Amino acid sequence: MTSKKIVLTGDRPTGKLHIGHYVGSLKNRVLMQNAGDYEMFVMIADQQALTDHAREPEKIRQSVTEVTLDYLAAGLNPEKTTIFIQSQIPELAELTMYYMNLVSVARLHRNPTVKTEIDQKGFGEGVPAGFFVYPVSQASDITAFKADLVPVGADQKPMIEQTREIVRSFNNAYNTDVLVEPDGIYPENEKSGRLPGLDGNAKMSKSLNNGIYLADDFDTVRQKVMSMYTDPDHIRIEDAGKIEGNMVFHYLDVFGTEKHAEEIQAMKEHYQRGGLGDVKTKRYLLEVLEEELRPIREKRLELAKDLGEVERILKAGSQKAQQVAAQTLSDVKRAMGLDYFG
Ligand code: ATP
Ligand code: MG
Repeated sequence: MTSKKIVLTGDRPTGKLHIGHYVGSLKNRVLMQNAGDYEMFVMIADQQALTDHAREPEKIRQSVTEVTLDYLAAGLNPEKTTIFIQSQIPELAELTMYYMNLVSVARLHRNPTVKTEIDQKGFGEGVPAGFFVYPVSQASDITAFKADLVPVGADQKPMIEQTREIVRSFNNAYNTDVLVEPDGIYPENEKSGRLPGLDGNAKMSKSLNNGIYLADDFDTVRQKVMSMYTDPDHIRIEDAGKIEGNMVFHYLDVFGTEKHAEEIQAMKEHYQRGGLGDVKTKRYLLEVLEEELRPIREKRLELAKDLGEVERILKAGSQKAQQVAAQTLSDVKRAMGLDYFG
């Protein structure tokens, strides 16, 4: 038995990963993995992706490979971290069946992230039932691995809260302690927890197409940076500019490291005083971003040459994850008295 804390987290394979995923969650995972103090599970949530992409299975399938390449390029190491595919673990769906009985429809309606997403996606009353209950399925994913910690972006706080409620309801209803209440881990820098889009939209999101992707080549990144939302009232270089809500400065605060701090501070003051143009600030941001993105991009290109290896990693990870989830499911069913035949 391991006494290491267990970590579960993941992404929806609805596209490639962007720098919001990277600073919101992926970077934290790599740090935790390399610290060596955790047992790490990273799930590619293809079933959750299908809750709002039911008719695009080929996109989901392709994205599974893309997301895995993003993971490996960013530094997840399959020797240390179990990377697996949700749909290959049927135990997760079975857990969801049991948990759904412990969650009211009214409670689901109160989940602010789901509410926002239903609006954004324009579902209205037509929201797929599977989408509406995805927080419950997420509770299954987390609890199946008895995760203590879930490193995620700020939009996932309501999911962690709901998972904790489900754990308490379950343990209480069946008078057991089989399920573990997880804690979310959010980026220390609040500006990373919900990275806004290039357009200034509240969240960089695969679905909103307002992101810089880990796989983007240099020219694409440059183009995107050059078209970023800044201060619309900063028209002439001599004008005083605003840094609040200006994506260039927001990203500099997120991606700048200690060695950039002084320069960033000087630029902020200059911009607010007037006399500093957007092209200059954008060029500097591009430089800062490239320091972080170039090695990831280069590694990703290398890894993409051997997709057979990617498949082997996913298969081995899924087999290992399945065994862990099967053990939890068996504990759960025993707690519920569903172990009819011993
Ligand atoms: P989709 O639009 O398909 O939901 P997404 O961009 O929201 O895609 P997810 O796969 O839902 O991405 O999220 C994966 C992880 O990345 C979660 O932990 C989430 O909190 C985090 N994350 C997503 N977008 C951001 C962002 N803009 N800033 C910080 N973290 C983010
Ligand atoms: Mg999302």
